[in-house]
Formats: sequence, C-alpha cells, structure tokens
Amino acid sequence: MDLSYAAEDEAFRAEVRDWLAENLVGEFAALKGRGGSGREHEFHEERVAWNQHLAAHGWTCLGWPVEHGGRDLPLFQQVIFHEEYARANAPAGVNHLGEQLLGPTLIAHGTPEQQRRFLPGIAAVTELWCQGYSEPGAGSDLAAVRSRAELRGDEWVINGQKVWTSLAQQADWCFAVVRTEAGSRRHAGLSYLLVPMDQPGVEVRPIQQLTGTSEFNEVFFDDARTEASLVVGEPGAGWAVAMATLGFERGVSTIGQQVGFARELADVVATARRVGTLDDPVIADRIAQAHVELEVIRTHALRTLSAYDAGSSGAEASVAKLLWARWHRDLGELAMAVRGPEALTVAAAPYELDDQQANFLFSRADTIYGGSDEIQRNIIAERVLGLPKEPRP
Ligand SMILES: Cc1cc2nc3c(=O)[nH]c(=O)nc-3n(C[C@H](O)[C@H](O)[C@H](O)COP(=O)(O)OP(=O)(O)OC[C@H]3O[C@@H](n4cnc5c(N)ncnc54)[C@H](O)[C@@H]3O)c2cc1C
Repeated sequence: MDLSYAAEDEAFRAEVRDWLAENLVGEFAALKGRGGSGREHEFHEERVAWNQHLAAHGWTCLGWPVEHGGRDLPLFQQVIFHEEYARANAPAGVNHLGEQLLGPTLIAHGTPEQQRRFLPGIAAVTELWCQGYSEPGAGSDLAAVRSRAELRGDEWVINGQKVWTSLAQQADWCFAVVRTEAGSRRHAGLSYLLVPMDQPGVEVRPIQQLTGTSEFNEVFFDDARTEASLVVGEPGAGWAVAMATLGFERGVSTIGQQVGFARELADVVATARRVGTLDDPVIADRIAQAHVELEVIRTHALRTLSAYDAGSSGAEASVAKLLWARWHRDLGELAMAVRGPEALTVAAAPYELDDQQANFLFSRADTIYGGSDEIQRNIIAERVLGLPKEPRP
C-alpha cells in the first residue's frame, strides 16, 4: 500500500493551505475551532457566512460533477481539502447533511427538476438540510418506520414523529423516510420525501443532551405538507434511495477528522504536563496507547479510501467507524483521568463546559450515531467474515 500523495495532490494541498491562511482572517478568525460536536449552537450565523464564503470560492461540493455545481475532484484531493481544513482549525461546517448525503443522492436518484431546484442551494449553502430517518422504535431497525404520508391532490400530507434529528432547528428542509402505502411492512411501501421545515405542520422540539446543549431534536409532523413531485425515486421504493444515502456516508472527511483527533490528543498531553500527571506510569501508558491506536486508525482509513477508489462495497467503513468511535470515546475518558478531580469543576458563570469536558460527554454518542458499534459488528461479521446472519424478527 502506497501511503504517499502524488505531486499534483501536494500542489493542491499547498493551494488549499494558502487559501485558508489568506481567508480565515478578519471577522472569520474568531470562528477557528468553533461549532464542533456538542457546540453546534456556537456562532451559527457567522459560520453560515463563512461556509457561504467557501462556496463563493469553489470550496464546497468538491466531489460533485461540474454540471451540478461541483468540481469533480478526485477522492484524494477531497481528503486533502478536509485534512487542511482541520489543520487550519477552521470552523465546523453547517450543511454536512446536504452536501455529503442529500446532494449525492439527488445526483444519483433525483429528477432533473429536483436537481435544478435543490443542488444550487446546497452548493451555495443557502438552504440547510436535516435527515429524518430515526423514529422512536425505528433506529437501528430503520425498516420499522411508522411515520406516514398520503397523496392528497398535488400534495403529500405527512403525519408522525422523527427523533434524534440533528440540526433540525437550523434546517430549511428535511429528507425523510415515511410510509406511503397503507398496510405495507418493513422495507416495502416507504418513500423518500423532501419536506420544507418552515410550515405550521412541522414542530421541532430540542432534546437537551449531556453537554447541556441541543444538537438534535424531536420532529413532529402534524398534517405537514410537501409537493407531490418532491419524492425521490418511485413512491413506495424509498428504501433503496434511503440506503443509497447511507452509502454516501463514505467519509472523505474522516481523515480530516483524524487531524482534529491528533490535535485533541496533543491537548490531553499538554494538560497532563500542566497538571503533573504525565509522570504517572498508568497515564503515560494510556497516552502512548492512544498514539499508537490513532496511527492504526489513520492507516486503516487510507487503506479504506484506496479500496473505495478501487470500487469496494464499503464494508471497510464499518471497521473504520468501529475503530474511531471507540478511540474517541476513550480519549474523552483519558482527558478526565489526566485531570483528576479538577475535571469535575467548571469555570465561573455561565458555567460552560470546556472543550475536553464537552468532548468527554458528547463522544458517548460516537458509538451510537451513524450505526452503533453492535450494528457495525453485525456488518463485519456477515459481510466481511461471512458468518451466518443473525436471526431477525
Ligand atoms: C448524536 C446523534 C445524532 C443523530 N442524528 C440523527 C439524524 O440526524 N437523523 C436521524 O435520522 N437519526 C439520527 N441519530 C439516530 C441514530 O441513527 C440512532 O441513534 C441509531 O441508529 C441507533 O438507533 P436507536 O437510538 O433507536 O437505538 P436502538 O436501535 O434501539 O438500539 C439500542 C441498542 O440495541 C443495540 N441493537 C439494536 N439492534 C441490534 C442488533 N440487530 N444486533 C445487536 N445489537 C443491536 C444497539 O446497538 C444499541 O446498543 C442520531 C443519533 C445520535 C446519538
């Protein structure tokens, strides 16, 4: 496996690095490091403006085809962009779900009219999206979705409840999986609808998380409406579209994420030095272990990307998810162990958590969202190792 980048990729890296150095200044400089996990509320309007600035200079939707507003960049250059973005400590994006999930889904499965209508708003970061999949009773088992929609005249009328809907409070639109054939079961009879959030039939109720902030929400559809034409794929055949969306979660951003992880680990080491626990052999051992594991994760991620480039089905992504989620959760615990009792205190009012405390609490979610550890293990067991399928109800 060749882990080095080609010369033109390194030239691209220099271009990205220079652009970020020249542009993440002035009013945008204050946004560095803002808006990450558990901190999505921070500087939202300002981060939207920064993302629109990126868009205006062609730094969004890098992998999309040119005719849909992207740059058709190869996978490794997309990775380089994310690496440099993380290295510059640039603020968290505001439209990951639109750019990484819905956009590619519309490019693959949307009608020309849907593409014309929605892709420009995603690329320009003028319309934000959320993902309405999970429901009470339908998380890992997404085929148990019970929210329903019926066609009345030229509109779908939607009723039901979604849950854990990230960033719904900031979203203009939701891509939702709902049941459109009465009496249908499991994977049949589902449709993939595009639903405007700003309407009387949609209520968003924030869920307060361990961090004290509300990254995700309950979303209630009570006779919510959307146009009849805003179904992606055939009505009743939404399962395949929903799975295609998940397939786009291929994680070109995961290598960039690891640059962020390395920064967090360095921060833990600096903290251990400051509070005097770096000499503790148990702490030193855990830090060394974390370093080694992060290197393993990085190497695996590069191998995964090479496999994608070669057209793999993506089961490697389950191994990657399992590795980084567990590592990141452990790092949160290590930060608290390094600090000892001091980790339990917060600074003076308004008693905001610091970065390590927020990370410790939010990273509990890493092993749940995007497919829980157990689900990833099932995928690895069945699709990679070829073990017998687990019994399903
Ligand atoms: C921070 C965060 C953000 C999220 N954002 C979104 C979002 O934007 N949109 C959205 O639609 N959803 C979102 N989710 C929901 C996420 O997809 C679900 O939490 C996840 O799919 C698990 O579903 P569940 O919570 O219903 O748990 P369940 O599916 O009820 O699982 C409960 C436990 O049982 C285990 N389990 C379940 N099935 C099996 C099995 N077959 N074999 C072995 N063990 C099993 C699970 O691993 C877990 O430990 C988010 C979740 C989190 C934590």
